[in-house]
Amino acid sequence: MSRTVYVNGEYLPEEEATVSIFDRGFLMADAVYEVTSVLGGKLIDFEGHAVRLKRSLDELDMAEPCSKDELLAIHRKLVEANGIDEGLVYLQVTRGSDGDRDFVFPSEDTKPTLVLFTQSKPGLADNPAAKTGAKVISIEDIRWGRRDIKTVQLLYPSMGKMMAKKAGADDAWMVEDGYVTEGTSNNAYFVKDGKIVTRPLSTDILHGITRKAVLRMAEEAQMQVEERLFTIEEAQGADEAFTTSASAFVMPVVEIDGVALGDGVPGPIATRLREIYLEESLKTAI
Ligand code: PMP
Repeated sequence: MSRTVYVNGEYLPEEEATVSIFDRGFLMADAVYEVTSVLGGKLIDFEGHAVRLKRSLDELDMAEPCSKDELLAIHRKLVEANGIDEGLVYLQVTRGSDGDRDFVFPSEDTKPTLVLFTQSKPGLADNPAAKTGAKVISIEDIRWGRRDIKTVQLLYPSMGKMMAKKAGADDAWMVEDGYVTEGTSNNAYFVKDGKIVTRPLSTDILHGITRKAVLRMAEEAQMQVEERLFTIEEAQGADEAFTTSASAFVMPVVEIDGVALGDGVPGPIATRLREIYLEESLKTAI
């Protein structure tokens, strides 16, 4: 069935939605994005995504396409129009197009392109993968140096996911200078002797909206959290591991580069954090 999507002020059937071939998002990956999950027809942590979107735009001197309230209204209208109970809302803002290709940014009065669409994902919260856990491989992190900006330069993460599939795994953790940065589309954690370890925020990783919420909830639940650099070898020797993202919440990791963690099944802390995250996020969903 055709979805209703949003493009620059219009709600259209997906077949009729178009963007210029000169759009800088298309030509130069000059664009940022957000993915907000929907549970029970409501948006999870919309505020967090709106704040990060503004930060990404500011870091790239890109204009805001509309106000936060308008963005919320568009999200809600698409969720309703497409009858989304569980799923995702994808949002992308590009620097727009002034009708040609040039490395120099177009003039300031060029209108940004704003596109949103929904993805229906029945069973998102009750994902069976969370019960078996994910297998990850490690790959070298060769992305650019501003990974804190949520740009659409997803070629390498996409290749990483393919390398994982080819190796019979589910995902890849990226490694730079010997230390794990993050997963291809998630933040990475391990747990040893009850302590949750994850890389500190910097320009090296995306400042995950789920990461922020999960670390707060972990501390509220009296769990110990340590933000520091860690290696693949250290994570392989952990009791358990997991990842966080807006689209998969808390996902247990049971194997790293062929080495099973603990008993090779999702660990108690990852499992508990997933429950807490889903429970708490639903309370504040809008
Ligand atoms: N790191 C990367 C590289 C990502 O692509 C994502 C998902 N967009 C995340 C971390 C997790 O961020 P969030 O919790 O905001 O989805």
